[in-house]
Amino acid sequence: MSEFSTVFPIIVSVEIGRYLVTAALVSLIVWAFWSVYFNARKIQARAAGASDYRREIFTSLRTTLVFSSTGFGTYLAAKSGWLTVYQDFAVRGWSYFALTLLAMIVAHDAYFYWTHRAMHRPRLFRLFHRTHHKSKTPTPWSAYAFDVPEAIVMVAFVPLWLAFVPMHDLAVFTFVTWQILRNVMGHAGVELSPVSGRPSQLFGWLNTTTHHDLHHQDSRSNFGLYFSWWDRAMGTEHPDYQARVADVAKCARLAEPYEAGNA
Ligand SMILES: [Zn+2]
Ligand SMILES: [Zn+2]
Repeated sequence: MSEFSTVFPIIVSVEIGRYLVTAALVSLIVWAFWSVYFNARKIQARAAGASDYRREIFTSLRTTLVFSSTGFGTYLAAKSGWLTVYQDFAVRGWSYFALTLLAMIVAHDAYFYWTHRAMHRPRLFRLFHRTHHKSKTPTPWSAYAFDVPEAIVMVAFVPLWLAFVPMHDLAVFTFVTWQILRNVMGHAGVELSPVSGRPSQLFGWLNTTTHHDLHHQDSRSNFGLYFSWWDRAMGTEHPDYQARVADVAKCARLAEPYEAGNA
C-alpha cells in the first residue's frame, strides 16, 4: 500500500510532535516562571525522579504509535466512505462546525469518565491502567504514559465518534489539540488554572490541575477529564478537593510555596 509510506509517516510525525511540543512548552513555561509564579502553585512536596521521566516519555512515545496507527486507519476509513471527514466549510457551515466540536468534547469527557472508572476495577487495572498510575507525582510528560490496551481504549473514541457524526477535518484537529493540551495541563504538577479559592464559581465546572493530581495521589476519586460534572453527579469527587483548591489559591495569593503545607 503506497499510502503507508507517504501518509503514515506524516501522521506519526504529527502525533509525536503534538506530544513533545505540548509537554515541552508547559515544562518550559513552568521552569521560566518558577520563582515568580509557579513556586507557590506546586501541588505535591514530592518531586518526580529521573526514572519517572524516562518511563513517562518512553510509554508516551509508544502511545503516539498506537494513536498514529488508529489515525491512519481512520484516514483510510474516511477515504473509503466508512466515516465522513469533510474539508469544505460551505458543506455544513460554521454553526455545524462549532456544535459538533463542542459535542465531541462533551461526549469525550463522558467516554473518558466511564472507561477510566472501568479501568480502575481490579481485574482491568493491571492490564489497562497500571503504567499510568506509576506516576505518583505527575509531570507534563506523563500525559500519554499508558499501557498499550489503555492507549487503544483512549484513541478508539475518535473513529467511534466519526462513525456517527460527520466532522470537518479542522474540527477533528482542534479536538485532538484540545485533548493533549488539557491532558498535559492536568499532569503539570503545578496548578495552572487561575483558581481564586472559590472553585464553584467561574471555573467550578472545569477541572483544575489539582483535580487530576489528586487522582494520582488517591485513585479512588476524581475520574473526570475536562469537566467536574460526572464526578459530582456520581459522588466520586475527592472529599478534600475543594479545600485543596482553596489552599492552592491561598498560597498563590500569599506567594508562599504550597508544597510546604502539603508535606
Ligand atoms: Zn493521569
Ligand atoms: Zn486512573
